[in-house]
Amino acid sequence: MIIDLERIPKEGLHVDRYFELENGELVEEEAILLEPLHAQIDLCKQGQEISIKGKITTVISFICSRCLAPFEFKVDAEFDLVFLPEELFELKEELSDDDLDLFFYFQNQINLREIVLEQLNLTFPMKPLCSPDCQGICPVCGQIISEGNCHCQQNLTDPRLEKLKTFLKR
Ligand SMILES: [Zn+2]
Ligand SMILES: [Zn+2]
Repeated sequence: MIIDLERIPKEGLHVDRYFELENGELVEEEAILLEPLHAQIDLCKQGQEISIKGKITTVISFICSRCLAPFEFKVDAEFDLVFLPEELFELKEELSDDDLDLFFYFQNQINLREIVLEQLNLTFPMKPLCSPDCQGICPVCGQIISEGNCHCQQNLTDPRLEKLKTFLKR
C-alpha cells in the first residue's frame, strides 16, 4: 500500500485495514500467521517531516526453541516513527543519535505495507519460548519435560557430584 505524501491532508490521514502478508516474509522461518495483520495508522505531515503512529495486532504460531512445540504468540504492538525526505539522507550520520532511529522516504512516497511488516518482525522474540520456564526436551527419553511424561530427572545424577561424594567420604 503506497501512500502519496502529497495527498496527506492537513488534518492527517487515518488508515485502518488488514494486510495480507506471506509467511515467508517473516524473519522467523517457522512462524505462521494465524490471523491477517490488522493495522491502525495515523500519518501526519509537519512540513517535510512525516510522523507515522500505528498499532498492529495479529496472532502468530511459533515453534518453541526449547521443546519444539508450536505455540500461539499474540502481537499487540505500537510504533511511533518519523520519516524525513531523501534530501536529508546524506546527513543521516550527523542527524542520528543513539536514542533515535531515522527513516527516510523517497520520491514523496511511503510504503505502508513495508513499514507494518518491519514493525511486525521487530516484535518477534529472539528465542521463541512457549513459556518462560519451558524445560525443553529430556535428553534421555525425548519427551517434553513439562508434560509430565518424563520421569528421568529424578534418576539423573551428575557424574561430577558422584565424584565429589566419593571424595568427601574419604
Ligand atoms: Zn517450550
Ligand atoms: Zn526423560
